[in-house]
Amino acid sequence: MNTRGLLQRKNMALENYNCVLCSHNIEESLLHLFLACPFAVQCWNTLNLQAGAFVDPFGILDSFRRQLAVPFFLEILICMSWAIWSVRNDYIFRNRPVSLQRCKQIFKDEFAGVILRAKQPLCLFFLFPEYVVVTSSLWF
Ligand SMILES: [Zn+2]
Repeated sequence: MNTRGLLQRKNMALENYNCVLCSHNIEESLLHLFLACPFAVQCWNTLNLQAGAFVDPFGILDSFRRQLAVPFFLEILICMSWAIWSVRNDYIFRNRPVSLQRCKQIFKDEFAGVILRAKQPLCLFFLFPEYVVVTSSLWF
């Protein structure tokens, strides 16, 4: 994944290699962008996931797996990562403001698509019971 940190190591000239999702002036690495950035932390918190004391990415992801305790945890982690990446790209390429609400909406839309394809609508109920009521017509 071409984070700004990776682009710098590939000698691509950019004005800035720092994360655009926060104001911490930290190079945009995979670990920072998806797990350590305060914006990413907020995004995971919307799913009631906390990284805790883990500092390595695999420890954090394993912690998320244990906190979710559902067989489709990987789909959840991928959809939220995609939502964070989408908000980042929308800011860089479309000048859209960074928004936690938008990240949550992208996650919901992506995850709803995953569940529809998996034909397991009850999975969504675990995370967003109010959302299932609103979109229940999709399954009938
Ligand atoms: Zn950041």
